[in-house]
Amino acid sequence: MIIFAILNNKNNLYYPENHHTIILYPGIEKYEILQVALEQLIIELRTLKEKGLKDHQGREWKIELYFSSDWKFLAICLGLNAANSKYFCPWCEISKEQQGDLSLEWKINKTINNIHQNYKCYRGHIRPAIFDMIPLQNWVPDELHIMLRITDVLWRLVIDELKSKNTWGNKARDVIIEEMKRINVRFHFWLEVGSSTWQYTSLMGQDKLIVLQHFNLSKLFPHSRAIQIRNLWDNFYLLHKAMKDFNTDAKMFSNDTHAWLHQFLNSDFYQASDITPYIHVLVYHIPEMIKIHNHFGLAAFSCSAVEKKNHQQVSYFFKKTTKDGGGGKNGKGRKSAILDILEHENRMLYFYNCNEIESIHLPKRLQIQTE
Ligand SMILES: [Zn+2]
Repeated sequence: MIIFAILNNKNNLYYPENHHTIILYPGIEKYEILQVALEQLIIELRTLKEKGLKDHQGREWKIELYFSSDWKFLAICLGLNAANSKYFCPWCEISKEQQGDLSLEWKINKTINNIHQNYKCYRGHIRPAIFDMIPLQNWVPDELHIMLRITDVLWRLVIDELKSKNTWGNKARDVIIEEMKRINVRFHFWLEVGSSTWQYTSLMGQDKLIVLQHFNLSKLFPHSRAIQIRNLWDNFYLLHKAMKDFNTDAKMFSNDTHAWLHQFLNSDFYQASDITPYIHVLVYHIPEMIKIHNHFGLAAFSCSAVEKKNHQQVSYFFKKTTKDGGGGKNGKGRKSAILDILEHENRMLYFYNCNEIESIHLPKRLQIQTE
């Protein structure tokens, strides 16, 4: 799903209804498919950028374009290879091996003009960028996915640590389930058929924040180690909160993210290879983005309202499956749910601008009596 929102409407960007669906398709996220699906949009975006927009009252609007999404979609649209590649960063030229060297500083140093002229000038770029009319500093990382994915890493590192100390057994799993119950988070472990690796519930955003703040790590680790990890988690929670706060000072935030990375690598167990692309972005690029986009604040670029919108669409229109466009196996001939969604949104928008429905005279009922 691709939506657009008007950033100047920043006080209302948290509501899904202010994010308007412009492209919706049930297939996978793939460069070749997106190139076709986005063709018309790209043409319109170029025109909007160059010529602006004239509204029905004759006012002319200058348009500045921004982009925000999760990592995978952003990388595809930028023509960049996958997040686990050697050159993974959309904004700078760091390589995986350089991540552990804390003496190096990383700033946005790529430009969309260079990518537009010759994408091969930066290592890791394997295709032309799709949205090459949007300046790279306006490709803004999404706070929601930064929180989700870094919390995943912190949680996985805890499980890995239990495994490495041979304390990963039924007892540890029972303790985790008990503790999750205490903090009111639904959580399960299970084994898939033919596998000996325990799977566990993938938590939703709100639950992740609860775990991050309230999970009692001393149930799993010796006291001193639990305090150490708890401190790292608390500091990450505060960073995430500050990232969304309009009043956060970019310089102070940069000091805090750097201190957090030092703490991450100093906690005896975590290594440079545990630093993920999202951690790199949080430490080095979010402070820059806070400074550049201080007019809107980074929360304005959050994908959380879009995730909510997606959830609403799936529950209202798709009835369980999204794989076939919502028609369902037995729904041959029935209108696709995608059309339903787009028509519904168009009507909402129409009646938002026109209260024509009030001016329609209700039909008069005539009763004809015959003798
Ligand atoms: Zn970078």
